[in-house]
Amino acid sequence: MFLLEHQAKSLLGQNGVSIPEGRVAATADEAGNSAKSLSGTDLVVKAQIGAGGRGLAGGVKFAARPEEVRRHAGTMLGARLSTAQTGIRGEIVKQVSIEERVDIAGMFYIAVLVDQNTARPILLGSASGGNDFERVATENPDVVKSITLGDLDWEDPKEIGGFLETLGLTGDAGISASRQVIGAIRTFFGNDALLVEINPLAITPEDKAVAIDAKIVIDGNALARHVELEALVTETSIEDSERLAQENNVNYVELDGDIGLVVNGAGLGLATLDLVIDSGGSPANFMDIRTTAGSFQIARVIQMLIENPRVKVILVNIHGGGMTVCDTIAEAMNFAYSRTGSDKPIIYRAAGQNAPWALSIMTNRRLPFTRFDTMTEAVRQAVSVAAGR
Ligand code: GDP
Ligand code: MN
Repeated sequence: MFLLEHQAKSLLGQNGVSIPEGRVAATADEAGNSAKSLSGTDLVVKAQIGAGGRGLAGGVKFAARPEEVRRHAGTMLGARLSTAQTGIRGEIVKQVSIEERVDIAGMFYIAVLVDQNTARPILLGSASGGNDFERVATENPDVVKSITLGDLDWEDPKEIGGFLETLGLTGDAGISASRQVIGAIRTFFGNDALLVEINPLAITPEDKAVAIDAKIVIDGNALARHVELEALVTETSIEDSERLAQENNVNYVELDGDIGLVVNGAGLGLATLDLVIDSGGSPANFMDIRTTAGSFQIARVIQMLIENPRVKVILVNIHGGGMTVCDTIAEAMNFAYSRTGSDKPIIYRAAGQNAPWALSIMTNRRLPFTRFDTMTEAVRQAVSVAAGR
């Protein structure tokens, strides 16, 4: 689970990390009023989406007066923001955060994460923090230093200070920064995080370290241990369609094409996307029906595809296995079509467990489908139907 910036910062703040004073607003008026309630007059308005790269994409604006805050918030709220870290469709901005602007003399990058190669938690640091960190670090990996957390007593400011010295963070700035880093590590372990990233960790002209931006990803499998975090999910800015699918045990990603996909399994889901694109078609979504989804749940998500005016044809590509059997999906199609009374064309291909039974459901319920035995044929047909051929 990806936390929004303001959620991440508040978690860091609870763990002793210095963060700028700020407020969250969902309307331009609220933003303007929040600006008045902050003590400083130099402010920053920041779009709250589930991705970084906002600075280079217009999602971080400086403002000096409440009226300016109001204007920036009005422009951001309700609009889609597309950054180097979102998909091309971007994300809808539902909240902005209004924060006191910090004077910055230096910017560092700090991250605590699980190293994919060793499966151990590590601390990363770099003196090239800021807007362009990802590009700089990709072109020049030497700018990033790392240390395995198991190898040091991370609660000891001297040990963390030693690591920060290798980044050139010394003196009072180093002391202040090590406090923030210890807070970040505490946040990481205390919340079963997969990632806690501060970029930039700013150093002020007074040598104080402040977390200007933060990204936190919580391990979804550990959410049951953090009931207080689960409540934050509803606030995050995922698409309504994706949330509805999630609630119904279906992994779903909204895309901008016209071929609705009903597929079980992530691998088959990706393969189907590839086939559709290679055949010149354009998928409306990625779908992976989880093995735990029942036919009523699946029907709810299929109904969403039926009701999506962009979707011209629904391509069903199912491989029945031990957990998800073909007839569960056929029943779901039946529920969704009978509920909506739709005649949106279905291109149907199902193989594996209970395929014949599923086919008889599709036939007996008179669903508007054309059946194919192979994926290639089914995909080709779906592409031509979508193209109006
Ligand atoms: P991101 O682009 O999504 O990572 O958003 P950030 O919060 O990191 O902001 C992008 C950039 O805006 C930062 O790297 C800073 O250069 C600048 N910035 C953000 N907040 C402040 C602030 O309070 N003071 C100053 N001086 N610059 C800021
Ligand atoms: Mn940032």
